[in-house]
Amino acid sequence: LNEIKNKQITVLGLGVTGLGIVRFLLSHGLTPKVVDSRANPPGIEWLSSHAPSLNTHFGSLDAAGLNSSDMIIVSPGLSLKTPAIASAINSGVEVIGDVELFARINTKPVVAVTGSNGKSTVVTLAYDVLKAAGFNVALGGNIGTAVLDLLNDDFDVYVLELSSFQLDTTTSLKSVSATVLNVSEDHLDRYDSYQAYIDSKLSIYNGTQCLVVNEDDKQTHPSGSSATAKIGFGTQQGKYYLGQHNSSTYFFANNEAFLPVDTLAVVGKHNYLNTLAVMALLSPFNISKEAYTKALNEFSGLAHRCQFVTQQLGVKYFNDSKATNVGATIAAIDSLATETQNLIVIAGGDAKGADLNPLKPYLQKHVKALICFGKDAKKLVALSSKSHLTNNMSEAVNLAKQLSSPGNVVLLAPACASIDMYNNYMQRGDDFVKCVLADNI
Ligand code: ADP
Repeated sequence: LNEIKNKQITVLGLGVTGLGIVRFLLSHGLTPKVVDSRANPPGIEWLSSHAPSLNTHFGSLDAAGLNSSDMIIVSPGLSLKTPAIASAINSGVEVIGDVELFARINTKPVVAVTGSNGKSTVVTLAYDVLKAAGFNVALGGNIGTAVLDLLNDDFDVYVLELSSFQLDTTTSLKSVSATVLNVSEDHLDRYDSYQAYIDSKLSIYNGTQCLVVNEDDKQTHPSGSSATAKIGFGTQQGKYYLGQHNSSTYFFANNEAFLPVDTLAVVGKHNYLNTLAVMALLSPFNISKEAYTKALNEFSGLAHRCQFVTQQLGVKYFNDSKATNVGATIAAIDSLATETQNLIVIAGGDAKGADLNPLKPYLQKHVKALICFGKDAKKLVALSSKSHLTNNMSEAVNLAKQLSSPGNVVLLAPACASIDMYNNYMQRGDDFVKCVLADNI
């Protein structure tokens, strides 16, 4: 912190991360300028009641005087290509994220997780396992608590979920283990190319002592050779994989049957892979079988991720509103499909420029009907001959109820972001649940 004591610091972007940064700086006697492009950013009330004397600018970034800062600590919600930020970078202003500031100060072990899908599930399970093994663990980053808010406590280990946007502004993070869980197209509205998005994710391996790669997804492997220890997980390959033992499927570790997969209380092949990733990531901590058994048994999954809602007239309803990209929707279809075409999938929203074609074979094989709405609904409709176009969630759910028969599964797995019609994926999932439970058919 001494390094930045006499610098003119700007915190750019309020919200959870921005407020975390402001609180942290204030508690260390530093007084940043606070800037947001919105006239009324979230967190403005906190600021006016707790730090009314701070210099602020809310409105167009072009008039924010960013070039005269020594350092900008920017929220992951803002692209570095935003003209005012790009211009500040060009004129030599140091632009970092909160994770970078955390990394420069933190001295404790870090387990770092990124990937297109499964980050929150993996970090939550890793947190639970470490807790069950008796560690004092901090969980944060992209999953909710801003990392700087966690620096005040005396934790043994940090488990951090990191988005590619956070990695773009992080260069000094050291970790005990780090993984890119998987890569599928996402956020192409903020990257110049798919490769640029992948490279952003791969930067998590810089500064780690143990690289954890997905053997089923070569895109998660670092380009070029690396002297660092590398551990693989995968369905059949790697140090951590799925194998047969006593006629049941087991999580295998180092060629030994470690635990039966049904120790894990949630369903889905993707969650088995997530568990293998946790085992690989936590291998430096020598965790007992008992701790794993307890944590896996008690893990109930996260809301809006392939979450069972209800059964009506023999039809099961699942809310996977967090499936905001193609990879997550494929994983959900793969998890819930049976031999017959039992699935009615509700999808749509903002595809963020992604190629939706990889969905095609899954729709063809497993889906009885695809019901679409939202900004990119027509692109989805074009993928299958069994598609229907509707105007909103309520129409989509009602149509799903009409088309379904006993034994079917109705799955909300949009493959798109929700922002064209909702504040966030939680609100979309809640709307789905409300429409499912409504007695309107
Ligand atoms: P993230 O934090 O990366 O968004 P989540 O754990 O919140 O990941 O899950 C996001 C979506 O991805 C959910 O729809 C979930 O069902 C799906 N998902 C979880 N794990 C995987 C995986 N390993 N591969 C593909 N999809 C996954």
